Amino acid sequence: MTYIIALDGPSGSGKSTIAQELSDRLGIEYLNTGSMYRAVTKYFLDRNIKESDLDKIVENLGNIQINFNEGAIFLNGEDVSKEIRSDLVTKNVSWVSANKNVREKLVDMQRQIAQNTSFILDGRDIGTVVFPNANYKFFLTASPRIRALRRFDQNESDLSIDELEKSIIKRDEYDSNRETSPLKKAEDAHLIDNSDLNIEETIDAILAIMDREDVI
Ligand code: C5P
Repeated sequence: MTYIIALDGPSGSGKSTIAQELSDRLGIEYLNTGSMYRAVTKYFLDRNIKESDLDKIVENLGNIQINFNEGAIFLNGEDVSKEIRSDLVTKNVSWVSANKNVREKLVDMQRQIAQNTSFILDGRDIGTVVFPNANYKFFLTASPRIRALRRFDQNESDLSIDELEKSIIKRDEYDSNRETSPLKKAEDAHLIDNSDLNIEETIDAILAIMDREDVI
């Protein structure tokens, strides 16, 4: 039987590292849904399409193809795995992901990708919107300072720790208050605050809950 693990939470909560590791250990597929919102953001930035260009956004959505291959993400055939982590994309991804048409398209794609196979998906709305019937649901979080330190250690940004913390708080606010699919813990998700846990300890906590629930 196939099963779905929904792993939601804010930026820097360790979702993608943990989802990758769990997918390896459990022998299931992994989908990083944030990378899809980032790829669409890059597409719009490349064409100078702005938040207020609502018609252009809808027109262009039909031209956007996203594929995955061996952990890399391809936007209309081009490997954009590195570019989508830039500060410019990070700064703009919130308005792109707040757009209803963008969300409709990407949620559809996510449901299609993860049908018929066991998957762990990480994002903001997996347990609430994309797969409300997921077999296992987790909501990971940590204090903004700790999350900023983790982002800093990843070496992907030119920002200082203080600037990263500010940008994380701003993105949390934007993601939590948007009208469509806000960042929110599903009622039936397990909340794990991993401010004082490392990756290994967080994974242990998740596996212990899965073992206990044993729903599949
Ligand atoms: O996970 P990551 O930080 O790369 O996600 C980038 C952005 O994409 C988030 O800040 C959020 O605005 C958006 N996102 C979303 N829904 C998801 C995954 C990501 O709105 N399922």
